[in-house]
Amino acid sequence: MTDHRDFSPHPQTTAAAYGVASDRAFGAVAPPLYLSSTYEFAGYEEPRLYDYGRAGNPTRDLLGHALAKLELGAGSIITSSGMSALDLLVSRQRPDDLILAPHDCYGGTMRLLKARAELGHCSVRFVDQSDVSAFADALEEVPSLVLIETPSNPLMRVVDIAVLAAKAHDAGAAVAVDNTFLSPAIQRPIELGADYVLHSTTKYLNGHSDVIGGAVVAADPAQVDQLRQWANIVGSAGAPFDSWLTMRGLRTLFPRMAQQQNNAMAIANYLQNHPAVVKVHYPGLPTHPGHAVAARQQHGFGAMLSFELFGGVSAVRQFIKAVRFFTLAESLGGIESLVAHPATMTHADMGEEARATAGISDSLLRLSIGLEAERDLLVGLETGLAACAG
Ligand SMILES: *Cc1c(COP(=O)(O)O)cnc(C)c1O
Repeated sequence: MTDHRDFSPHPQTTAAAYGVASDRAFGAVAPPLYLSSTYEFAGYEEPRLYDYGRAGNPTRDLLGHALAKLELGAGSIITSSGMSALDLLVSRQRPDDLILAPHDCYGGTMRLLKARAELGHCSVRFVDQSDVSAFADALEEVPSLVLIETPSNPLMRVVDIAVLAAKAHDAGAAVAVDNTFLSPAIQRPIELGADYVLHSTTKYLNGHSDVIGGAVVAADPAQVDQLRQWANIVGSAGAPFDSWLTMRGLRTLFPRMAQQQNNAMAIANYLQNHPAVVKVHYPGLPTHPGHAVAARQQHGFGAMLSFELFGGVSAVRQFIKAVRFFTLAESLGGIESLVAHPATMTHADMGEEARATAGISDSLLRLSIGLEAERDLLVGLETGLAACAG
């Protein structure tokens, strides 16, 4: 017999049902959307739970609580974008603080860190975190914050969060993991030792490509309070309507991720055996260098992958023209499948030399795999590959 006294619901149940039927005014089953910017005081010197929308909002807080539960944190701050979530942490650093970030981090992350460093708000150093000795050397400089991104974009490099976090803590640094590429349905960094989890909720958490949003989850309640105050000071909170939409998207996070990563696995296998394809980067493939770590620290392999075509830029052009069911667009994590060409789109700003160092060739394509039927996605890719082979 299972002892149900310590029973806590499965995260899928939290995503699907957190806050359902909690409305005390009318018994609404779907949690209501509160747009009000201000709240009536109960009386003289009697504020209620909420007073002003920049500081707090019931709809935004519902999403924040659900996300904190899913990420196993003490609380979370919902912000207006993934970038403003990152900046909530970065802008709290002092001028003599050093941030250690991956050399192949998200382009917007690199731009923000460099811009803050240029203004003297903090220092930043980029390092290949999969290089054990380079990472150890960088820790000698006593960073205040180590930022981790795994899997990376667009080559899906995987690093061991538990190992890096332990080393960072030994060096006295706090650890933040950008979990945008997997979501808490697949990876829970706090369980692996992270102090903060960052999200662009724009991606899998909302999942429908119709909101820009972000979140910071903190493991320590004192940090949650400080960050909440800071978000109120700088005014970076997410809009209530966006939170409501994101909560609606979050309901189906687990089944979406399950189906999308099944599709991704099928596509990775298909591409790997195709004569027009040089190489496939997907942690679910046993041949991927990060496969063992991913299998250990993730609960699945996600729905992002990239691959390289034979025939360079002209093959890329032909493929993009002919491919079906994949839309040529930046971003990821939505229910629709997207194809991106990192060299001319997401990673164009990097410059040719930096791309070459990072291993991002002109014939690399990135796929965000959606919820379409596997058969159709395979047919759509086949159409594209046939065109570039011919
Ligand atoms: C998209 C993205 C961001 C930035 O989020 P926005 O919501 O676009 O501001 C940060 N990190 C990763 C890994 C992303 O994919």
